[in-house]
Amino acid sequence: MQSFETSIADKLRNLVSRQQGGESSPSDAVLIGLIGRSIQSSRTPMMHEREGARLGMCYTYILIDFDVLALRDESLSAVVAAAGDIGFAGLNVTLPHKEHALALSTPDERARAVGAANTLWFSDGELRSTNTDVEGFINNLDASAPGWNGCEDALVLGAGGAARAVMFGLLDRGIKRVHLANRTVQRARALADQFGASVLPVAWEAIGDLLPRAGLLVNTTSLGMKGQPALELDVTRLPPGAAVADLVYVPLDTPLLAASRARGLKTADGLGMLLHQAVRGFELWFGSRPEVTPELRALVEADLTNT
Ligand code: NAP
Repeated sequence: MQSFETSIADKLRNLVSRQQGGESSPSDAVLIGLIGRSIQSSRTPMMHEREGARLGMCYTYILIDFDVLALRDESLSAVVAAAGDIGFAGLNVTLPHKEHALALSTPDERARAVGAANTLWFSDGELRSTNTDVEGFINNLDASAPGWNGCEDALVLGAGGAARAVMFGLLDRGIKRVHLANRTVQRARALADQFGASVLPVAWEAIGDLLPRAGLLVNTTSLGMKGQPALELDVTRLPPGAAVADLVYVPLDTPLLAASRARGLKTADGLGMLLHQAVRGFELWFGSRPEVTPELRALVEADLTNT
């Protein structure tokens, strides 16, 4: 009878072969994978494959979807080990496996502080990890809303996984006070306990009163996303010169961003963050740092718009 590890390795080999059009893997094909559930419409492969093609690499980005493969979440460690054996250069990890991936690997400071790993790579037999959402969020703000970090007070909405990456980035860039509003205020308090005295948890109802002093407003909730309730908020109460970032990218132009632009505020959108977070992974795996160009953005934007 096949052992558990062998059957996982076989599943992965079959998957590679299927995604390469039934061909057995060319020996020089570079393999990267995305591990998660419900990832069939992920845009991450598009970003990485385009960069691979630009560099003339023989590159295949494999979707390792636990739903499609009928795998239990507990199989993550066997899947990662099999990917290493098969010769994957690295892996991206998404919901619901980011916390487990952190526990399986040797994380850097960012992944440890965020409490989740979304990028893994193999280095001298060791499984290393980082969290590239931090860099994605900050670099997108730098590119889209230069000068955003001139403010002393930021207001962050939401205290889920994405908020942790945002919090790490804002504090790292020296923002003095981060007011953190969450529907479930206990989650905001827990995050403040972890990140220290610069993070001030506030009740969801206090948002309106905080807007006039927020030089930066960040939505990390799912409000405003397609199929979710709207984010009800009066951006005219923000100070002139404030910057507004929305992590939601479906739709691309959220009502929050549209209203902020109409008010003349600087904005940074969720797609920009998604593109910028992919840069670090490619660099870690291959030593070459991709650029987030208008052409790359247009490619992913067109795909998102067609969905
Ligand atoms: P998560 O861990 O599930 O957190 C969801 C957050 O939204 C929580 O703070 C939750 O509040 C809040 N929320 C949900 N429904 C709400 C409602 N009706 N009213 C008020 N608050 C509500 O999710 P996540 O991983 O942090 O992701 C959050 C959003 O960021 C998603 O839209 C995701 O697509 C986006 N994101 C984008 C990027 C990017 O690269 N652009 C990266 C990561 C995430 P409670 O704690 O009260 O439930």
